[in-house]
Amino acid sequence: MALAQERRRKVERAGIAAALQRIEEGEFGYCIECGDEIAEGRLRNNPTVVKCHECAAGNT
Ligand SMILES: [Zn+2]
Repeated sequence: MALAQERRRKVERAGIAAALQRIEEGEFGYCIECGDEIAEGRLRNNPTVVKCHECAAGNT
């Protein structure tokens, strides 16, 4: 239980660190798969998303 929580926190932190790095590189807000802009509402909902709606849907 605690281990799962710790793992989730780690994933969250990694996602935030990756998002910050992409902001620095000017890549933030663009899909890592197709390069399209990620919808603003999607980013607002979760700033750590790295894929647009279509690519995220295609991979699940
Ligand atoms: Zn995409």
